Amino acid sequence: MKPLKIAIQKSGRLNEKSVELLKNCGLNFENYKSSLISPVSNFPLEILFLRDDDIPEYVQDGIADLGIVGENVIQETEVEVTYLQKLGFGKCSLKIAVQNNSSIESLAELDGKSIATTYPVILDKFLKSNNIQADIRTISGSVEISPGLGLSDAICDLVSTGGTLKSNGLKPFADVMSSEAVLIGRKGSENEDLVQELIQRVQSVLRAKETKYVVLNVSRHNLDTVLQLLPGVKSPSVVPLAEEDWVAVHTVIPERDFWDRISQLKQAGAQGIVVMPIEKIIL
Ligand code: ATP
Ligand code: MG
Repeated sequence: MKPLKIAIQKSGRLNEKSVELLKNCGLNFENYKSSLISPVSNFPLEILFLRDDDIPEYVQDGIADLGIVGENVIQETEVEVTYLQKLGFGKCSLKIAVQNNSSIESLAELDGKSIATTYPVILDKFLKSNNIQADIRTISGSVEISPGLGLSDAICDLVSTGGTLKSNGLKPFADVMSSEAVLIGRKGSENEDLVQELIQRVQSVLRAKETKYVVLNVSRHNLDTVLQLLPGVKSPSVVPLAEEDWVAVHTVIPERDFWDRISQLKQAGAQGIVVMPIEKIIL
């Protein structure tokens, strides 16, 4: 069988998390920095390490079956690919920013102004949909220094913490798009069965990340109250303990509810609460 190919970023902000995700899917491969292709020893898959800008086209053209890339890059390259799964990392937003002392405070005031960006396609669509005519100056990097150099009145750039903008004396005032890393594919892939298997592995790792395995002890007297606080994957397991009238409850709960639930459980009489990470959840 012809191996699948998945394209991930060779180096940069998405590389480490993409490699970690694939390793957590149980795939064994060498993360060579020097090689462009790495075979997976225990699944019919090859990993292609590429510049992120090239990933959407490789997937569209069928050179790779799957890819991991930021939504911003997909929108900018305007390719036809299928979004398979949001991956929860590489979160950022594309924002318009101006210098702290700029008089521009609203979108309408960008009319007739110049904006430097590495995302001309997305910015152009955004400006058109807001009926703003501005001069888009496409540059290939270090966008944040352009207002200071007098190259543009504003910038449109990716922001995660906002630290880079701040340290360059810039303030954001409009959101163009928000983005995160996504798994992409193509309609009509020859290896549809393998693609589906890999998607399922990815989803089981993501589900596990969002949840915790919780074990706690409770007296039978308080069991009902505690069970009401614990919606499990199916339903919690209740196991008798050596001490009569006490049971252990095992369940899986979403990480986001975690601290809330723990204090409610304690109030309801739960003791010896143990919380464990989960590796995979296969439904
Ligand atoms: P390459 O060499 O592969 O072309 P790059 O320099 O274009 O890399 P990176 O800076 O590594 O790209 O960013 C990769 C992706 O990480 C971005 O396209 C975006 O989706 C995401 N990202 C998350 N936070 C940020 C941020 N603060 N700035 C830029 N990109 C971010
Ligand atoms: Mg790039």
